[in-house]
Amino acid sequence: MGAHRSGSAQYRFPEPGGREAGMGALKQEGVIMIQEICRDEAFLAQKSQPATPDDLQIASDLLETLAHHKDNCVGMAANMIGVSKRIIAFENGGSYMVMFNPQIIRRWGPYDAEEACLSLSGVRPAKRWKSIKVQWQNEKFQQRLQTFTGWTAQIIQHEIDHCEGIII
Ligand SMILES: [Zn+2]
Repeated sequence: MGAHRSGSAQYRFPEPGGREAGMGALKQEGVIMIQEICRDEAFLAQKSQPATPDDLQIASDLLETLAHHKDNCVGMAANMIGVSKRIIAFENGGSYMVMFNPQIIRRWGPYDAEEACLSLSGVRPAKRWKSIKVQWQNEKFQQRLQTFTGWTAQIIQHEIDHCEGIII
């Protein structure tokens, strides 16, 4: 999801092919690459498939792409880099967090928000909840459960919407 303030289209895009010199960090499991941002609304409107341990590389790419866009983006879902899997990555108090197969199981306190998105133009209204209880799997595919509030909760809701094929 876009940082709140950026309503205008000041987004930087990676070079064609999603590569940029010096940015592809080499890791043992393979080359992590910054991926191109998907803006195809027909694709983004599709519900993503469950993620499996075979999808760890996708999460790495997602994190790398999110870090690349850190100036105007605080969260991303895998379909934003063209992969229809239920994986999200987002900023959480100064560090990044990845969730596989996240699900909101409780929510409290509805409010109206306005959000921007790297995949979409402009700022758009969205219904959000102040607190959410989320169940997900970590990178070892261990089940996790935690309550999030405020800004982080809002980012998570935006990214889980992407997994559901919901476009704000
Ligand atoms: Zn978005």
